[in-house]
Amino acid sequence: MKKAVVCGAGGFIGSHLVKRLKNEGFWVRGVDLKYPEYAPTAADDFIIGDLRDTTVCQRVFDGPFDQVYQLAADMGGAGYIFTGENDADIMHNSATINLNVLDNCYKRNIKHIFYSSSACMYPEHNQLDPDNPNCEESSAYPANPDSEYGWEKLFSERLYLAYGRNHGMKVRVARFHNIFGPEGTWDGGKEKAPAAFCRKVAMAEDNGSIEMWGDGKQTRSFLYIDECLEGVRRLMESDFEGPVNIGSDEMVSINQLAQMAMEIAGKNLSVNHIPGPLGVRGRNSDNNLIHEKLGWKPTETLYEGLKKTYPWIAQQVAESYKK
Ligand code: NAD
Repeated sequence: MKKAVVCGAGGFIGSHLVKRLKNEGFWVRGVDLKYPEYAPTAADDFIIGDLRDTTVCQRVFDGPFDQVYQLAADMGGAGYIFTGENDADIMHNSATINLNVLDNCYKRNIKHIFYSSSACMYPEHNQLDPDNPNCEESSAYPANPDSEYGWEKLFSERLYLAYGRNHGMKVRVARFHNIFGPEGTWDGGKEKAPAAFCRKVAMAEDNGSIEMWGDGKQTRSFLYIDECLEGVRRLMESDFEGPVNIGSDEMVSINQLAQMAMEIAGKNLSVNHIPGPLGVRGRNSDNNLIHEKLGWKPTETLYEGLKKTYPWIAQQVAESYKK
């Protein structure tokens, strides 16, 4: 039986990845500061611990493992990473986690490791036109991310690739573009746009209104969690190191995203545009490289993914009202 460690197994993508690996027959150890919030973990073994602490890392990587998935990071949506208030924490915490995890794997001779980077590492100057952003993998340099979160991701990508070159490790690096789905953060300030709009729509009375940061003309693409995991697993089993985008290439404006949530909910709401942290004007996944290297790319529509996500968030909203 293959053995894997999932770092960040208490988080959104990590908790789903543990389920996926279990379904594939892996023995899985999860590690995180916390257990998953919305469902019990599927992991065989779960260590509550801080990966900034080297003694915790030594305990986690205490023997042979076939694969490691490093998803732990200090992160959140625009309200967390673009205000500037959390920059020092984001850089220090995530870089320390990556330095520790990778070096402990190396010292334990654990060679096969996945690292989750982000589309936030792409240069801001290529994402000013909302209708025509460039997120081709080769456009990463000269680097100019618009957030410290993006700079840390860029540093850590290079760190993993350097261990691959110098220490013969089999690293795999993906740049995720806005992953969403059930059992993800939906309130509290760290939630992302799809979850935030599902929540706002679920909470609004029909014919009422919701708030939106900015004019809503900024563009993004959003990838459903199951497709993200399919991409991660395919990349891990392939000979391709990356970095490669794992995202959807169905680009929508934030206004369109909100409209989809309203349509799924069957509510007619007006939108109040208010100032708020926004990030770049346009972003879309370029899927040419993943298609070329893995012979696969995500195909599910945003609408299909939202149809599976909205009911879960509406249920969370209803339950939190009852409390
Ligand atoms: P998440 O915040 O739900 O999960 C990250 C987990 O890391 C959390 O459970 C958190 O408790 C844990 N963690 C943080 N600091 C830790 C520490 N010191 N020790 C142990 N655990 C710690 O985020 P997610 O959406 O599941 O994202 C997973 C990874 O994918 C992250 O690296 C993130 O940067 C990357 N990513 C995600 C998206 C997205 O849209 N969700 C997009 C781009 C990149």
